[in-house]
Amino acid sequence: MKILLIGPPGVGKGTQSELICSFYKLNHISTGNILRKHIDEQTELGKFISSFKIHEGNFVPDDLINNLIKDMKHDGLLENSYLLDGYPRTIDQSVFYVNNIISNLNECIAIYLDADRDYIINRIMKRRICNKCGRIYNLSQYNHKFSDNVCSKCGGKLIQRLDDNIDVFKNRLEIYDKTTKDVVRYFKELKVLFEVNALGEIKDVFNRIKNVIGEYYDSY
Ligand code: AMP
Repeated sequence: MKILLIGPPGVGKGTQSELICSFYKLNHISTGNILRKHIDEQTELGKFISSFKIHEGNFVPDDLINNLIKDMKHDGLLENSYLLDGYPRTIDQSVFYVNNIISNLNECIAIYLDADRDYIINRIMKRRICNKCGRIYNLSQYNHKFSDNVCSKCGGKLIQRLDDNIDVFKNRLEIYDKTTKDVVRYFKELKVLFEVNALGEIKDVFNRIKNVIGEYYDSY
């Protein structure tokens, strides 16, 4: 099972990825987390990535991210079931993925999570992330007591992402509108795209996703 999770920033991709991966035993690959890790560890690549100011919402170049994914494939990390969260994000990346990463289009399913903008803005302003393991929390959700600001999974500190402020967020939405919508269209034309309404409780959204995955994988 190979799942591509697509959707605007703040729609809940990270949270749903975690649920999907633990339910279906998939490897969770978040390109955002990979890029942030390189920056935090100040690797050579991390310094290069920093120059694109991803905390302001700018994308890294397609070649860079495509090469990271290609390297993962060469290292055998894409052989088993996985969920890709945050990739592909542009048409170039989508074509690269279909032509170079998978061998059969039927082995992948693209799930498009969408919700209205006010809902998304509200969510993103309340989002916190663990600075150690990357787990996502939302101040409005029940899954954590926030008084201590500590990750209940690994004990890391809960922080607000640099790109989670209103101005940066608007910039990210704008970039998303310009680029990722083409990705949705592309996978729709290939007939492997399923749209899921991301409004509402986490568990309800997750149930909708499970229905889509169940239907798709039962059908062949
Ligand atoms: P995310 O955690 O998925 O929201 O990603 C955080 C940031 O990393 C994005 O706003 C982009 O700047 C960058 N990024 C992540 N994935 C990609 C990608 N596939 N292509 C280009 N930039 C990316």
